[in-house]
Amino acid sequence: MKTLFTHPFRRQYHWGYLAVGCTLLVSYALWLGSMWYYQDWYENPWKYMAKVGSHSATLLMCWAFILATRFRPVEVLFGGLDKVYKSHRYIGEIAFFLIFLHPLGLALMHASEGGSFWAYLWFSGDWVRNTGIIALAGFALLVVLSIYVKIRYHRWKRTHDFFGLLLLLIIVHGIMAKGEIVAYPLLGLWFALWCGLGLAAYVYIRLLYRWLGPQYDHVVDEVRQVGDAVVELYLKPQGRAMVHEPGQFVYISLDANAVSREPHPFSISSAPDSPRLRLSIKQLGDWTQSVHAIQAGEQARVWGPYGHFSETIVQGSCRQRLIFLGGGIGITPFLSMLASERMRKAPYACWMIYSVADAQRAVYSEELRTACAQRDDWHCIQHLSDEEGFINADYLQQHLGSLNDCTFYICGPQVMMDSVSNLLLDAGVPIEHIISEDFDIR
Ligand SMILES: Cc1cc2nc3c(=O)[nH]c(=O)nc-3n(C[C@H](O)[C@H](O)[C@H](O)COP(=O)(O)OP(=O)(O)OC[C@H]3O[C@@H](n4cnc5c(N)ncnc54)[C@H](O)[C@@H]3O)c2cc1C
Repeated sequence: MKTLFTHPFRRQYHWGYLAVGCTLLVSYALWLGSMWYYQDWYENPWKYMAKVGSHSATLLMCWAFILATRFRPVEVLFGGLDKVYKSHRYIGEIAFFLIFLHPLGLALMHASEGGSFWAYLWFSGDWVRNTGIIALAGFALLVVLSIYVKIRYHRWKRTHDFFGLLLLLIIVHGIMAKGEIVAYPLLGLWFALWCGLGLAAYVYIRLLYRWLGPQYDHVVDEVRQVGDAVVELYLKPQGRAMVHEPGQFVYISLDANAVSREPHPFSISSAPDSPRLRLSIKQLGDWTQSVHAIQAGEQARVWGPYGHFSETIVQGSCRQRLIFLGGGIGITPFLSMLASERMRKAPYACWMIYSVADAQRAVYSEELRTACAQRDDWHCIQHLSDEEGFINADYLQQHLGSLNDCTFYICGPQVMMDSVSNLLLDAGVPIEHIISEDFDIR
């Protein structure tokens, strides 16, 4: 299981964390600055630990809500919506660990003043403390369900609804405690702003996004089965058409008999200038298993486009050679990228490595070969892992030679993305030239 500890920050390369870090520093500065201004220092040093925990955790929790909104500025800050969701998870996880400093610090303070450490952590006649205990227990339960227990996606999403209530409870607890957030005007204003933003973000994504989010109506034009387990949905826009970059993705919700309306994310596998939007869907779970039964003429709504996968190509900030590495259904963003006019005109040589278990699953081989035939300096390589083993450093060196002039784009199963990213980092490829798109945003 991926956690904060097995997924180090070195893989992330975003300004977002800097922004989060800066807001934490501002919080500490306002808090300590106010204490200095009013000369109101704590007598018991354990209280500092308790307050660092509560201030940091509350702020990070508000950030976690903001990160769930799918707002464009947030996407830009964190380098794509898939990264935003990963960061949302890490930041929530850090908030969860930090919040324990609060009861721990207060209980230690209580114990150092002659009280009982354990009794402080249990219910009493003190409702400030009781709301804190309830909030902590709720937080622990929700985090365990969200991160450490593998439950079905729609149940997982439902448990997320309760985080809004949790933030409310934390706010109530903070107000009842009448601590420095209530006492110091600047600090109070700062936290009121963040808690307001956090709550507004929650209301937006849970209630308003379906109406206010960037959305486009489509009608299903064609449903095509390709191979055993991939279904292509072709959608025709109704009204204004969505403008997107190659390699971006959308959330789709269908008004169809075969599947529920639950929105699911899929990369756009058609060219940006194509009159029809194509989604290539691997049938692997309860919702995707039924997509083959969707009928032409049924209505679809897409939200988006999201993602920054091809941003560096569009901006022209790559090295001379682009290496596209698509594993299984992770090939979809590359189909769109290779079919785009922009990519055709870009000053880059390109190596497309399509990695699948066996030839039967290589359903997009022909399309990729045709796309790569558009330019002499585009090459298509098919990698069959059942025969050739997983992609390793030797394999890349053998097919690509030196990696010093390459920018890598990777999309596929998490194990593949992790192992290839690591071997590229070990081979000295700078992290900014290893760009990945993550299909698992939980
Ligand atoms: C940015 C992005 C692009 C993607 N592009 C493609 C693509 O081009 N082709 C493709 O086949 N798949 C793609 N996926 C994966 C696809 O969204 C999931 O496979 C699909 O939603 C699984 O649904 P299910 O109910 O059938 O499977 P389940 O077995 O219920 O779920 C499998 C996993 O998929 C994820 N998932 C399930 N439902 C949702 C949902 N409503 N929203 C978000 N995640 C969910 C969860 O992590 C879950 O553990 C993409 C995912 C992301 C995040």
